[in-house]
Amino acid sequence: MVKPIVMKFGGSILANGYGYVKAAEKVVECVKRAPVVVVVSAMKGVTDTLLQIVSERGASLEETIGELHLKHMRALEEAVKSKTIFEESFREISLLFNELAKILWAIRFTGTLTPKLRDYVLSFGERFSAKIMEAVLRDRGVNALMLTGGEAGIITNDRFGEASPIMEIAEKLVKERIGKLIENGVVPVVTGFIGETLQGEITTLGRGGSDYTASLLAAILGASELRFYTDVPGIMTGDPKLIPTAKTVPKICFVEALELARAGGKKFHPRTFEPLIDSNVKTIITDLEESACTVVGRECVEGPKTVSPIRGLALINIEGGYMAGRIGTLAVIANAAKEASVNVVSIFQPATETRISILISRSDVIRFKEELEKVFSRENLPLKVSVVDGVATLVVVGYNIVGYVERILNVVRREGCNVFGVAIGLQGSSLTIVVDDNCIFKAVRAVHDELVLPSILSKLER
Ligand code: ASP
Ligand code: MG
Repeated sequence: MVKPIVMKFGGSILANGYGYVKAAEKVVECVKRAPVVVVVSAMKGVTDTLLQIVSERGASLEETIGELHLKHMRALEEAVKSKTIFEESFREISLLFNELAKILWAIRFTGTLTPKLRDYVLSFGERFSAKIMEAVLRDRGVNALMLTGGEAGIITNDRFGEASPIMEIAEKLVKERIGKLIENGVVPVVTGFIGETLQGEITTLGRGGSDYTASLLAAILGASELRFYTDVPGIMTGDPKLIPTAKTVPKICFVEALELARAGGKKFHPRTFEPLIDSNVKTIITDLEESACTVVGRECVEGPKTVSPIRGLALINIEGGYMAGRIGTLAVIANAAKEASVNVVSIFQPATETRISILISRSDVIRFKEELEKVFSRENLPLKVSVVDGVATLVVVGYNIVGYVERILNVVRREGCNVFGVAIGLQGSSLTIVVDDNCIFKAVRAVHDELVLPSILSKLER
């Protein structure tokens, strides 16, 4: 099989007909070089709207469905010139809308919303969008064919809302199905974000999942390139709104990209870079203008690449001599977090075992503290809970960051920050420092200008 190029277009750039036209032009260019597989997200904001409709009981269904219909039809009309192609897609998309309306009425009428139904409803965003992209490409003479994730071969388990692909089956089916299409000169337009169980029920891969669809397809097909088109020209060294000197990072490796999926300015689905980690797929992140880009590959170059703040956090300190050497205290704490539905951002404990600090979102503090106090009293554990509010983290991503810890800490201390905890990420490629919120911006700027920028300039831009 000839190696294809996988092109993924994010919802942020599919906001109207113009976005689809620009995207289609990119595909037309690329098809001249190699077979292309297109992956699309839902139009901008559509997944959020669908989520709102299924969860809000009061909102007017007709009105919202009407608005959604109009948004898609407008885009189609703006982007497609041929009357025949327009009419055919208009009919197909309208049929999909009928199906959506029926299911939404049924959900409202019965008052039952299962995770399975929610996934089914959310899948419409990508299905509408892929239909539009198919039409726009056909309008430009490309032999495009829309496929759902399931039709493309993305078979998953039945964890609705965050399904995982069953790799052995997905590999076989994707190779067979997509392989055959591209051999016949067809350009598959695959819905991102959605898969299918073996029983044919639609699943979703979790928010932002179109990125993951694209990387799965690229890895399975042994793509020569994977191109992510989004609304920023690659991964930046820092948030340009905060750091005027921020630049696009020219090159990173998959391990660093995995860390950046959560900590960077541009958010990816957290599993996006997983399928690629041992691959040779040249992965490019850019915008439709392609004024700059980040190339992601296998080979890692040491040194800090990005720095970013995470704000709105609080540190919960659990203290007491009692826990030293006692087995199971952490399990009780972790279980309390689970019971209170609290996401643990970071966790720290000194070797003296007298304190465990849990970093969480500020909005979770009351719930978590109450739950902890409840279980400690129920289980008779003599432990004290206190809260340090108003903390933030400074996250530096870069391969082998361990060698830079001292320099980074020095800059952070010099900027007047108190340091509450330090943690190292995946394969030593990120550093999290917990500091006071009121010094975070100064610290981020200083680390950026003194350590990140020089590292990029000296190592990557030669
Ligand atoms: N449309 C989905 C979402 O908004 C998936 C994606 O865009 O990647 O989460
Ligand atoms: Mg996305």
